[in-house]
Amino acid sequence: MLDDYKDTQKTAYGILSNAINNNRISHAYLIETLGNKRGFDFALSFAKALLCPEGKTNNKNCFNCNQCKLIDDNNYIELEIVETNDLWLKKENIDKLQKDFNFKPIVGRRKIYIIKNADKIRESLANTLLKFIEEPEEGIIAILVTDNKSKILETIISRCQVISLKNLNSSFILDREKYSDELINNTIKFINYYEQNKLETIVYSNSLFHNYMNDRNDYLLAFNIILMYYNDILNYKFDGKFINFENYIEDYSLISKLSIENILKKLNLVIDLKKKILNNVNLNLLIDKLVICFKKVDNNDLC
Ligand SMILES: [Zn+2]
Repeated sequence: MLDDYKDTQKTAYGILSNAINNNRISHAYLIETLGNKRGFDFALSFAKALLCPEGKTNNKNCFNCNQCKLIDDNNYIELEIVETNDLWLKKENIDKLQKDFNFKPIVGRRKIYIIKNADKIRESLANTLLKFIEEPEEGIIAILVTDNKSKILETIISRCQVISLKNLNSSFILDREKYSDELINNTIKFINYYEQNKLETIVYSNSLFHNYMNDRNDYLLAFNIILMYYNDILNYKFDGKFINFENYIEDYSLISKLSIENILKKLNLVIDLKKKILNNVNLNLLIDKLVICFKKVDNNDLC
């Protein structure tokens, strides 16, 4: 049950239980397990919580509900698990999904399919799947599971809400030997400046950011710091604790203003832009793009 993850996956649990309690469910999720051995179980627990008519995140104890019993017996018709057994997903798999998910749920109010190893989807099949993910019948939810998001086609990622699990070995803890205090200070100052002054940040991006960067590697590290910083804010929202940057928060009211969705979108954006650093892009333009896209996120626009 989802509540099993309350302590070990505070952020992922927080985001999803928050969505369930407020009935704000996306129609597609991508769960990145990052080598976490219980990643699939996490996805299944989430599906169960969504399907249980009681809407419970602790539905192990939902003895009154048929759905939960049927799911446990692998017998519930509104839940389909697509396994690829490490091979590429076949056209038959998608055809079957389309056939089964072509209509609204019959038994409950939701119908879910989980694709295990979603990285095993070839580009040629992805288009069929995308249309399917994008325009589902009411009540249909896709949960894609992958070990590593970087193996997934960009077009798929952009349609899903990405939930990254914490691998207990590779947590988000900052390695102080790799990151100088100067780099941390300046990067966070830059982000804090953005959160207060928005687009104006572009005008000062040299003095706020570029002047402190020596090479591409510094940009990569700075992007990691940005990721950890927003992740810290998420942790604070769910757990009341910062992992790395407690001393860097200047204005708490600024942080509390940021919604969970806003932070998640920014995190996904930074992950996408970070990949471009290694592709020889113009770094000035990249930072401009970061600021512009952040602003779009703040305005609820697409970037
Ligand atoms: Zn139940």
